[in-house]
Amino acid sequence: MFTCASCNILACRTGELEKMPKNCPMQDREFFDKVLEEYFKPENHDFYLTSTAIEYLGYCKWPRLRETAEFARRMGYKRIGIAFCVGLHKEASVVEKLLRKQGFEVVSVACKTGAIPKVEVGYSPDMLLRPGSYESMCNPIAQAKLLNKAETDFNICLGLCVGHDSMFYKYSDALVTTLVAKDRVTGHSPAAAIYCADSYFKTRNVIEE
Ligand code: SF4
Repeated sequence: MFTCASCNILACRTGELEKMPKNCPMQDREFFDKVLEEYFKPENHDFYLTSTAIEYLGYCKWPRLRETAEFARRMGYKRIGIAFCVGLHKEASVVEKLLRKQGFEVVSVACKTGAIPKVEVGYSPDMLLRPGSYESMCNPIAQAKLLNKAETDFNICLGLCVGHDSMFYKYSDALVTTLVAKDRVTGHSPAAAIYCADSYFKTRNVIEE
């Protein structure tokens, strides 16, 4: 089993391969040689090199929003899709405007599109956020398919819920980058709960039975 998250050697970072642990994935060189070939496929090569160049160009200077725009511009993308959570409608509108100002065509689709009540998909009425009231289901498959229909070159995920985001990635034809990871408790900064895992979030991070 691979346990990179608990490895303190990090030979992959330093290049000191003679120090790699016994269960290091790098023990299998053939695997990495094969993987390297993938990057040379036409659909991957420019995309990968451009994203790596963005890391260099914007390193500790550009916020992710700018990195996203710079990346899309360098890739020659014209039409950008935004799949957003209605709870972040205002933020989606800011991103839409900024990207339009940069010259992109922007297609945006809200998570509640379709206005299908949650119960219609088989969800329990007992678990509605406000039982007895109308609640539309989030519809990540529709978001992806609508952006597919619009033939977007590249899609942005802006604040979709855990799992809904996964379904959006699954159904999106265009590759997706995540601009905002939804976290209602931390102001959409999920890393805050990790940084404070031993302090303020000590009890809130654990799963309660
Ligand atoms: S790839 Fe190898 S050296 Fe790098 S973190 Fe994983 S186990 Fe450690």
